[in-house]
Amino acid sequence: MKVRQILTLVSLSFLVLFTSQCSKTADGPGSSSSVTLNTFNNKAVGASANELLSAEKPSIVLEVNYMKGFALQSSTLNSLNSFLSTYTKKGAFQVVQKEITASGKDSLSLAEIDKIERQNRTTFNSTNQVSVYLLVTDGGYNPENTVGFAYRNTSIVLLGKTISKFSGGANQVPRSKLELGTLEHEFGHLFGLVNVGTPMQTNHNDPANPAHCVNSKCLMYYQTETSRFLGTLMANNIPSFDTNCRNDLIANGGK
Ligand SMILES: [Zn+2]
Ligand SMILES: [Zn+2]
Repeated sequence: MKVRQILTLVSLSFLVLFTSQCSKTADGPGSSSSVTLNTFNNKAVGASANELLSAEKPSIVLEVNYMKGFALQSSTLNSLNSFLSTYTKKGAFQVVQKEITASGKDSLSLAEIDKIERQNRTTFNSTNQVSVYLLVTDGGYNPENTVGFAYRNTSIVLLGKTISKFSGGANQVPRSKLELGTLEHEFGHLFGLVNVGTPMQTNHNDPANPAHCVNSKCLMYYQTETSRFLGTLMANNIPSFDTNCRNDLIANGGK
């Protein structure tokens, strides 16, 4: 199976180092508890952009699996609902949440993340719905400042331990803001931005950072300095999609 990662980092590089890499992962080797992902949920990042954006399938189910101590803030989910209502033509948004067994690991590999999804995911795309799987882990990732990434067409992971490290404390960004900023950016990739599943109406792909927008004010910008991103989040609202990104979404069935 090929898994494409779009990493979101804080620190060395703001939100997002894009790496396009194919990792081999075990297809639930001999494990009877492992789910074989529905064909529709086993594609590359951006492959479900139109399905997520358009009204053809009227609802989105967000399946959240979190490890103990790393449940998302309720305001994160409320705001994510508004975000999805703003950019997609879906009429219904449903959240299914479940606490899952902690990994107990300091750091998780992509293969381990994939395995956890296969063992726990219960919702998939169907005629009337698109399902997005969101895993919140108790461990980090390598590179260690990764806060989250999209790794399949409907799969996102947040590295709970790293989110926790960079938010919620004195003089730090509120945890819900870092969760939401990361999730919105990753949803941008699931929506096919930039030029990964949603064609560009005007060229605005950052040549140095593929899959990201050249506009430094845009949600899909690759920001090269973390402290700047966290600082930006401290002082400002989470960035929105700029006109070019928005036009791409609209042209691919969104709004
Ligand atoms: Zn990104
Ligand atoms: Zn943009």
